[in-house]
Amino acid sequence: MADSTNKDFPHVPDRISGLIDLAYNLWWSWNPAVKMVFKNLNPQAWIESIHNPVKMLKELPEETLVAASKNPLYLRHYDLVMARFRQEMKQKNSWFTEHFPDDHDLSIAYFSAEYGLQHSLPFYAGGLGFLAGDHLKESSDLGLPLVAVGFMYSEGYLHQHIGADGWQADINELLNRDAAPIKRVMYNHETQLVARVPFIEPPIYVAVWKVDVGNIPLYLLDTDIKENDPVNRMITYRLYTGDNELRLRQEIVLGIGGSYVLDILGIRPSIIHLNEGHPAFALLERIREQVADKMSFEQASKMVRETSVFTTHTPVPAGHDAFPYSLMDKYFSHYFPLLGIDRQTFLELGHSSKDHGELFNMTAFALKMCSFKNGVSKKHGEVAREMWQPLWPELKKEEIPIHHITNGVHVPTWLDPKMSLLMNKYFSPSCPNWMTEHDSPLIWEMISEIPDEELWAVHTQLKRKLVNRIREFKRRKWSGEGTDPINVITGGALLDPYALTIGFARRFSTYKRADLIFQDLERLKRIVNNRWMPVQIVFAGKAHPADDDGKRIIQKIYRYAHQQEFGGRIAFVEDYGEQMAQYLVHGVDVWLNNPVPPMEACGTSGIKASLNGVLHMSVLDGWWIEGYNGKNGWAFGDSPPGQNQDRGDAEQLYNLLEREVIPMYYTLSDDGIPHMWVKKMKETIRSTAPRFSAKRMLKEYVRKGYDPALISAAKYIKTEFQPDE
Ligand SMILES: *Cc1c(COP(=O)(O)O)cnc(C)c1O
Repeated sequence: MADSTNKDFPHVPDRISGLIDLAYNLWWSWNPAVKMVFKNLNPQAWIESIHNPVKMLKELPEETLVAASKNPLYLRHYDLVMARFRQEMKQKNSWFTEHFPDDHDLSIAYFSAEYGLQHSLPFYAGGLGFLAGDHLKESSDLGLPLVAVGFMYSEGYLHQHIGADGWQADINELLNRDAAPIKRVMYNHETQLVARVPFIEPPIYVAVWKVDVGNIPLYLLDTDIKENDPVNRMITYRLYTGDNELRLRQEIVLGIGGSYVLDILGIRPSIIHLNEGHPAFALLERIREQVADKMSFEQASKMVRETSVFTTHTPVPAGHDAFPYSLMDKYFSHYFPLLGIDRQTFLELGHSSKDHGELFNMTAFALKMCSFKNGVSKKHGEVAREMWQPLWPELKKEEIPIHHITNGVHVPTWLDPKMSLLMNKYFSPSCPNWMTEHDSPLIWEMISEIPDEELWAVHTQLKRKLVNRIREFKRRKWSGEGTDPINVITGGALLDPYALTIGFARRFSTYKRADLIFQDLERLKRIVNNRWMPVQIVFAGKAHPADDDGKRIIQKIYRYAHQQEFGGRIAFVEDYGEQMAQYLVHGVDVWLNNPVPPMEACGTSGIKASLNGVLHMSVLDGWWIEGYNGKNGWAFGDSPPGQNQDRGDAEQLYNLLEREVIPMYYTLSDDGIPHMWVKKMKETIRSTAPRFSAKRMLKEYVRKGYDPALISAAKYIKTEFQPDE
């Protein structure tokens, strides 16, 4: 199996043909110095490609590439980058091989329905996806023997346009596969590998694509191919749409199809990790393989349990899929006999007394079938234990075997390159390897060595960059498509690069209460319109296509945003995605987070912001319960549940803004710098960066989940299993 990508780039001279490999490996995206090797080819083309090197290389004229291949200055940079790339991609010694020398010929398969890696791959809806993407990037950095499985969505997630009435239009756009960093996995060097999902009737076929995430291969399954009937082609059109039956077929393709594809590729994972319940059918396929190999169902399920890891991500009921027995019968009547069990035993596997009626619950199934399972923050661990107690009626709540590993973000991806350079200037003299050891809290103590004026200068520069980006975007829309003036103003045309800026951006699920700050309109107007201490708020985020309540919240905010009395100080930025997230978490002053507790299992956007010195103002929920130390941001919103909860929480929010946040921001010293504020920024970075990094998180997954499971897996390999009879 190989790919034929280089054939698509006849105009790239041999001397710099390594650029093609580099463009197809997302490793470039978290290494700023590597980005420059693309940008320097032609900065304008880099911008026009929206930072997509595959698209850019395809479109650049041959002369430009030939000139670069003869430019000694360019070649010096190119050779350095390529040497580093080759070195890191064949690196034998890593954190993992050093600490777990016995495990390294074993392998881990990671399954997820979404991945947030880079905006050129729109295969994510929100936090779950970014967590998966960051998991892969950090696995590459730490040298884990991991392969990943997901979907190649033809249209990705919806694109968002807000109409003049404030209603979200869900726009479906076909992904241009030729301009995305994905490769076809070939069969016999000729055709793309297509597999039939085993033992499932009616048949479903999947084609296989691959994304290189540093050292980690991510295999993507695609049903939008001629071998399938029109209904099955739709399985991988979009994330999380369609009816229950389409969803079931998606999950069959991911779990069973995904396991089978790994098998065809010669990958026999020692253990598997399921990111949320969507891929849990992978557990069935692992049992089936062992039963076919003469194990009993009981033995096979014991083995699978000991070698599987499961992460649950949300207390929101809609996040847990459950399928009616009639649908399970339709697709699995040929399958469950192969497990050596009857229908009743099969359906029991997904039974939860929490569901009313006859449903196969994917989370319940995964919880029963994986020995290590975790929630994504300390609090969420507690909430999940309580939520799933019915599965263990004999145990006390605190004995329920669901642990927690608090989420972290991939620091090289989310730390702004200018911030990173500034840190490098002050950290590297005493710790040149600070970036590879950034989960060590000691490193971040050095933040105090950065002079206030330098940190403030970088921050204000990032804020100007954010405001410019928003305004430029609106300008283009105005001059290009001639959008209506309301859309231009609402979209942020009147934003002020010097006003205190609050950011609120995430999926518009109702529990996140995006509109909380509009509880008392008169008070909010006074706050934003204060002549000497103005405040502006930037909102962004999509509502799920079927979530009309979420769309109503967007509409409400959009309408306030174009009221004259708000003076253009409320903006709603359309089509939130990875790139806008980067601008926002780098460039606003305050990151607002006000879910109804305890619904936010972790929340990761606040971590991204804090890492960049953006002060977190949040309800105590998710990661903030662990992260808040009294000096690194603000906590509010402990009103008791009930009718007055929103009003009470909003009241606390206004008080905090008026009494602390706004005065602190506008209290400048003679040098024009708000030193109190900058002190808080430093405390935020110091306390958040190491503890809430994906590096800390991954090491915890290895120690608590992967290593014990790998040890079990090795035991099964070594002891030449003896069948019963
Ligand atoms: C990090 C991120 C999220 C998750 O944000 P939460 O605060 O956890 O809801 C969603 N969307 C994008 C684009 C992100 O980068």
